[in-house]
Amino acid sequence: MRVLHIHAHFDDFEFVAAGTFELWRQTRPEFRGRVLVCTDGRSGHQFRTREETARVRLAEQEASAALGGYEFELLKKPDGRPFEEACRTLTTDLLASLWKSIREFEPDYILCPPLPTDPQAGIHPDHVTVAEAVRRVAYMINVPHAFLGEFPAADETVSRWVKTPVILNTYDGYMAGANAVDLAVEVEPAFDLVARESWCHQSQINEWLPWVARHHIEPTADLDAWKARLRSRFQRQAREMGLPADRAWEVFTVTAWGTVPGLEQLLRDFPALHQDPERHERLRTKLRRWSGH
Ligand SMILES: [Zn+2]
Repeated sequence: MRVLHIHAHFDDFEFVAAGTFELWRQTRPEFRGRVLVCTDGRSGHQFRTREETARVRLAEQEASAALGGYEFELLKKPDGRPFEEACRTLTTDLLASLWKSIREFEPDYILCPPLPTDPQAGIHPDHVTVAEAVRRVAYMINVPHAFLGEFPAADETVSRWVKTPVILNTYDGYMAGANAVDLAVEVEPAFDLVARESWCHQSQINEWLPWVARHHIEPTADLDAWKARLRSRFQRQAREMGLPADRAWEVFTVTAWGTVPGLEQLLRDFPALHQDPERHERLRTKLRRWSGH
């Protein structure tokens, strides 16, 4: 099973899906997880130069990937350079590059940020751009030569068939209060690893995020202090989503952007799910409606 996590920034993965990746890694020998980061990370810092910030953040993500045993890819434009961070709007280059990276990995599942349905919900512009890009490119995944201008084909009469994955949205901290849940994964057994992976992102958790002051994050002296802060973050999320706050959860919603799965497939493929028959019945009804059954 291959899972591709697509998000805007270095460190997004650790806060929404790192625990689920770890549970898959522990329970499925055939699991391959890849984290695709769509911006170069250089903009959000208050005392480092942009060049240094980009370099530091790349190294931080590589350190996290080594701990978590997942593959890491920085998305590149057709000309080979990464996409700039902050307030970028949807471009054909972004769609083309996503299309190429998704086709190369051929995932069974894509996890990506959500599009807010409530216009009063807060957003991070990069998160919304990535969500919109995944949605717009989803149908094109199995359209060969879709971006010939950006990626010329040697022979347009030769085409490779690529499976269209199931696409799910993650939790998004920027739209707190407007998040939803179809599937809740209990990631308590992976809490320690999630803490160590997120601890790799020092330029975020101990420098930028406390300074920007929008994330309930203050500088922490050591890993144990960070674990306590991460724990209260998980507790806040659990209360928001109506889940038991004494354990850590990661939540996902299913989209019809890609292949529409059956409920049984999801229950089989997702580890350590919160057993909520009512929520799962609502999901079953939604999936049946989408697939015309
Ligand atoms: Zn982000």
